[in-house]
Amino acid sequence: AVQQDQDITFITPTAPVANETHGGRAKCLQRLVRLDLPVPKTVALSFDEVHRIASGESPDMAALMAPFSDQALLCVRPSSEDPDWGGPGAILNIGINDARYIDLCDQLGRDAATAMYRRFVQSYAIHVARLDPDMFDHIAQDDPDSLTETLRAYEEETEEEFPQDPAVQLLEVLRSMARAWEGTTARLLRQAKGAPADAGLGLVVQEMAHGMGQGECGSGVIQLVNSKTGDRKITGRYLSQSQGRDALAQQSAALFLERDPRGPSLQELAPEAFDQLIEHTRLMRIRLREEMQAEFTIENGRLHILDGVRVARNAHAAIRIAVSLAEDGIIPREEALTRVDPRAINELLHRQVDPDAPRDRLASGIAASPGAASGKIVFSAAEAQASAAHGEACVLVRRETSPEDIRGMHAAAAVLTERGGMTSHAAVIGRGMGLPCVVGASALKVHLRRKVITAPDGRELRAGDIITIDGTNGDILAGEPPLMKAAQDDAFQTLMIWADEFRDIGVRANADTPADAQTARNFKAQGIGLCRTEHMFFEGDRLTVMREMIFADTSQDRAAALERLLPMQRADFIELFRIMQGQPVCIRLFDPPLHEFLPHDRAGHRELAEALDLPLSDVTRRVEALTEYNPMLGMRGVRLGITVPEIYDMQARAIFEATIEASREGEPVVPEIMIPLVSAKREVELVKTRVDAVAAAVRNEKGRDFTYRLGVMVETPRAALRAGEIAPHVSFLSFGTNDLTQMTYGLSRDDAGRFMSTYVQQGVFPEDPFHDLDTDGVGELLQIGAERGRAVRPDLVLSICGEHGGSPESIAFCRDAGFNYVSCSPFRVPVARLAAAQLAV
Ligand code: PEP
Ligand code: MG
Repeated sequence: AVQQDQDITFITPTAPVANETHGGRAKCLQRLVRLDLPVPKTVALSFDEVHRIASGESPDMAALMAPFSDQALLCVRPSSEDPDWGGPGAILNIGINDARYIDLCDQLGRDAATAMYRRFVQSYAIHVARLDPDMFDHIAQDDPDSLTETLRAYEEETEEEFPQDPAVQLLEVLRSMARAWEGTTARLLRQAKGAPADAGLGLVVQEMAHGMGQGECGSGVIQLVNSKTGDRKITGRYLSQSQGRDALAQQSAALFLERDPRGPSLQELAPEAFDQLIEHTRLMRIRLREEMQAEFTIENGRLHILDGVRVARNAHAAIRIAVSLAEDGIIPREEALTRVDPRAINELLHRQVDPDAPRDRLASGIAASPGAASGKIVFSAAEAQASAAHGEACVLVRRETSPEDIRGMHAAAAVLTERGGMTSHAAVIGRGMGLPCVVGASALKVHLRRKVITAPDGRELRAGDIITIDGTNGDILAGEPPLMKAAQDDAFQTLMIWADEFRDIGVRANADTPADAQTARNFKAQGIGLCRTEHMFFEGDRLTVMREMIFADTSQDRAAALERLLPMQRADFIELFRIMQGQPVCIRLFDPPLHEFLPHDRAGHRELAEALDLPLSDVTRRVEALTEYNPMLGMRGVRLGITVPEIYDMQARAIFEATIEASREGEPVVPEIMIPLVSAKREVELVKTRVDAVAAAVRNEKGRDFTYRLGVMVETPRAALRAGEIAPHVSFLSFGTNDLTQMTYGLSRDDAGRFMSTYVQQGVFPEDPFHDLDTDGVGELLQIGAERGRAVRPDLVLSICGEHGGSPESIAFCRDAGFNYVSCSPFRVPVARLAAAQLAV
């Protein structure tokens, strides 16, 4: 009685069953049947059939039940296209009734039969009749009358007898599961996981292998790897006299699979079944080309495989599993690369608190996003941004975060919230950004107005105090314990090597400091794509010299201050070149408006007056004179370079002298010099002339030759539009999509947060364009710039160095546009390497 109708299909090796019509579980079961594994008889209902059932139609029940033996009990399980989309829970023991109960008592014993009947009545009551789950709570498991009580409770509540006809039972179960899938809550939940609005549900009806009764009976799950590490290790659970996933629910009662000194194991109770189980699971791995978890039942010593699901895994395990499948020749390397979500790599890349370091714990909360970071306490997103602008690490502390805080979170080294859980805003966003995050730290009292946090032991912490967030275990620590570098194991390294073999777009890092550069090298970045030199001026006593330079009255005074900055810059560059060992280093000339280096309040002015030995009024007047209404569009970048050319001269000299110095010891260095905020070709001509002159002077003085490359940072729409006349003067264009986004939209990088969430909610922007590259608008400028530049200079090197450079979507866009490389923050380099490889395989 093999059913031919494609909507109700008896699963055989050749039956027409597909993921897209019957769902993943049905398809997987067919694969297991093809492998000749002991799978109980199974019938699959297609999405269409289930949809019809939900609308009130009845399937052909005779056809549906024909493949099963007369006395069989059945179970129904969901089968959606993607198992992550969820679905109604399985219902077991369908078909049991008073008559079969008596037979089962003979066959399996009264206890087993009673437990099975009770189980079915209860699930039927809850899922089909939709009765209150608590209504059976008062009936004790070991009560000899428990079954009668359960049936009576059902009948009292529904005023109907419990249905005795197996066909009626099955139809009602199918109906309830079909309808549950179409309910609004279920739909919203799966849409949140990426399911389309019309995602279908298939159902599989399977003959029960009982798992209860005479001899060794039970059920469990098994897998051959550890889900946390991916290491080969048999893991799982087995529970005698149990069904379904009982073994997982009753942790304490479950038995071990392998021989174990702590208790009896399946291996001892049913050695033959155990050996077969291992064999079958191995076969599944090889033939299904995936690490699988098998759901199984033992019936009087005989093994049944009920189901196979992809082993659940964290990022660490995902990499190890993919690599080991490829190393065992089960999948090709290209496919291993596609098996790992690039974003998941973040989890492996973060620093952790040194486990041997003393921990001064203030409190703990929910470990919402892994990794550890220290920083000064700030209480608002704006303060976080201000702190980041000064290169100071900070920890953003909020009661809870909202979309308005995103930019602050980007600026923070870690986030701590008093409220919230694993899926709260801070947790979700923190994980997405790879930002250490602890939420729900309710033991801490956050007084936002007073800017104080009180720990449970009474200690008070104020804005500016240093704390450490351990997002891996949820601790909030006082001070700054030593942190350990992120741990990437051999599987990670192997996967990354494979990624580099396949990818066809370069990956560099944005790195300003020697520490950044070292991280970039460790992650095998192919050079530095953006070194923001101004960050070097905020360090230590340099700020004072910088301020002297800004305040210089005469060009001699300015020259004197620059003379003092020169050796500092030179030393910075030598160190960067040394660390990068001959790899390209792209140095951006000074970019920010000068006032960013000046104090903003009266106290700061007074200090500065003292330091520079000037009258306070002088300082105040000069600060005011430098203040701009719209500084991001004012005298910054190349505009400053042309107005006060000595700054760029000094930087060019420092770069060239460092080039000679570093080339003496190692690989010859070919520095790249990048001009920021260009909008006109004349700007490039002027800067180029001066930089060339400095190069000539240094060559002369030192008697050594070197080469360098000059490039333009495309950050204004005009630079993109006029790339055709800029390109002849330069050897590369690097798109700074942060400013380019700001200027394309006319949207302030620093203020857009105030309305971004409204804009995204109302669908004005699909996403924050500072976060996800706007491929339509900003992207069009990238394409125009690339085409016009390459038209006049085919060997023009093209890259992106804005924050977008590390996201898989932007990498895909830039690769399509013919870019040579992307440059992103050092920690995103491995993500970018893998994402780039996935585009090429
Ligand atoms: C940019 O504008 O995209 C850029 C990389 O420069 P910054 O972020 O320093 O302005
Ligand atoms: Mg910029």
